[in-house]
Amino acid sequence: MKTLSLALAASLLISAGAQSRPVAGKPLLKALAGQVSAERERSTDARLVAFGTRHTASDTASDTRGIGAARRWVASQFDALSKSCGGCLRIETPSQTFTGARLPAPTPVVDVLAVQPGTSDPGRVVIISAHLDSRASDVMDAGIDAPGANDDGSGVSAVLEAARLLSAHKFPATIVYAVLSGEEQGLYGGKVLADYAVAQGWRVEADLNNDIIGNVHGQSGVVDDTHVRVFSEGGRATENPAQAAARRQAGGEQDSPSRNLARFMQRLADQYLTGLKVRMIYRPDRFGRGGDQNELLSQGFPAVRVTEAAENYTRQHQTVRVEAGVRYGDVIGGVDFPYLAKVTRLNVITLAALASAPEPPRGITETGAVTPNTTLKWTLSPGAVGYRVWWRDTTAPQWRRGRLVGAVGETTLQGINIDDWFFGVSAIGADGFESPVVFPGPAGSFDRLPPAARPAP
Ligand SMILES: [Zn+2]
Repeated sequence: MKTLSLALAASLLISAGAQSRPVAGKPLLKALAGQVSAERERSTDARLVAFGTRHTASDTASDTRGIGAARRWVASQFDALSKSCGGCLRIETPSQTFTGARLPAPTPVVDVLAVQPGTSDPGRVVIISAHLDSRASDVMDAGIDAPGANDDGSGVSAVLEAARLLSAHKFPATIVYAVLSGEEQGLYGGKVLADYAVAQGWRVEADLNNDIIGNVHGQSGVVDDTHVRVFSEGGRATENPAQAAARRQAGGEQDSPSRNLARFMQRLADQYLTGLKVRMIYRPDRFGRGGDQNELLSQGFPAVRVTEAAENYTRQHQTVRVEAGVRYGDVIGGVDFPYLAKVTRLNVITLAALASAPEPPRGITETGAVTPNTTLKWTLSPGAVGYRVWWRDTTAPQWRRGRLVGAVGETTLQGINIDDWFFGVSAIGADGFESPVVFPGPAGSFDRLPPAARPAP
């Protein structure tokens, strides 16, 4: 059994308890946060807008206008980054052809991915995604200008900025920078990505889907440049009836891996960022709306949606125009780049922290009914030098109480009654990076929970 080094143990112990926080790894995360450039994101977004439209069914032959030119430009950016890191990125372009209500003619939907293979566990994958395609008021109009500066030029700018900064470092786990298409026509690019992840056998630990992350002037008149919303599902999209029954009995509605990913992001923001707080929203997406993360969730992978705090609907999905004195359209003037840089910082440090930490503990079980104690067991994570057992009041939004244990796969919390708390476990690496907290059982596991096979109709 490995033991914690004295210095590491001391530093971790200091951090345990009510104000628990990962202490090591801080220099890297601080440095990365400081390197995010609002000006670079502005120039990326301006380049995207200059393609006129990036509608999924728009021209693919032109070098200056349409989705094809925009895709090739994104690939060229990944290519240039890879050249400056000794070929550290592999560019992949999975595609599928779709026909649907918003795509009357069969249309190839092509995603542009840059894959940065992990050094020790390349099968474990963390993803940042955004969609390249744009639209105007008429979702079927592939010819009219559709600048899509915020929806979702902002997200694509964040993906490229994350790739620029993180490709300069090596991480144990793989990072995928994903620029998707087809979102506005039916979340097709998300499906392409999710299917590709399944086909590649990726163990997707997280997808951070960034969609509409740059506006601060809400339609209500509120201006908010200090919050970002992170949407996460409660019960998992793919749980089967037996798993749902177990969750009803033990709890877990608030502890899907996606939600514990949101908690992880909220803690990181509190610890490493200034001027940005995470508002966790307990929904997979905004009311009645969806995003590409839904397709990852539908394949049983953890995923969250990252979106600005205050949306302005005159600036989304609108043809650029002035009507009754109101300016409509998703133009670059509606993007606040210092705010976009803050949201990008959150993404960058989350990806770095996830890809540096050991794999989240697997196979967690909890026992202790009709006893005064609670026992947790789990499978050892490769590279972990210790674990932290967490518990919180069943109505509390965030993990508050942590107790460091060694490199063990079991611990008993004496005098802590299993009935009264929710429990979780995180894994800690030699350099102090700590995984998200994992809730016991299938409801909380970061392992893929594949959709149940449906009986043939
Ligand atoms: Zn969007």
